[in-house]
Amino acid sequence: MLGQIERGESSPTVATLWKIASGFGCSLSRFIAAPTAQGPLPLFRDARSVRAKPATDDMLVAPLFPFDAAMGFELLELTLLPGYVRESEAHANGVIEHVTVLRGALDVLIKGQWHPLAEGQAVRFAADLPHGYRNLHDEPAVCHNLIHYPAMP
Ligand code: MN
Repeated sequence: MLGQIERGESSPTVATLWKIASGFGCSLSRFIAAPTAQGPLPLFRDARSVRAKPATDDMLVAPLFPFDAAMGFELLELTLLPGYVRESEAHANGVIEHVTVLRGALDVLIKGQWHPLAEGQAVRFAADLPHGYRNLHDEPAVCHNLIHYPAMP
């Protein structure tokens, strides 16, 4: 699979990108966005200008604040199109995710159980266990996913 992606013969899904990132112990945004330019604050970002479909599955990703080692997190805006279901393998040890629903509704899989989240609701969970996201509704679901990575030794 890695060879096919390297040779341009296959386009990975976001799930595959996440697997590869986890394997290297690095963040998803390493693969889909240039690091945030270092510079004075405030740093303004616009999801409309960075939102893209980086892979073949029905998810749009806007890396609002790509991973920055000094911050220890990345903040992604995710759009789950209707019918999107993804079960993700565990990320690296100590990774913690925060999902906040901005629009629509979605379910988050935590320890084998799907938890519904409506607009304005949020959850923090250990992402070093298998987990997942799905949108079984007719409208796109938009959320923020703040992924915290523990300090690298
Ligand atoms: Mn995840």
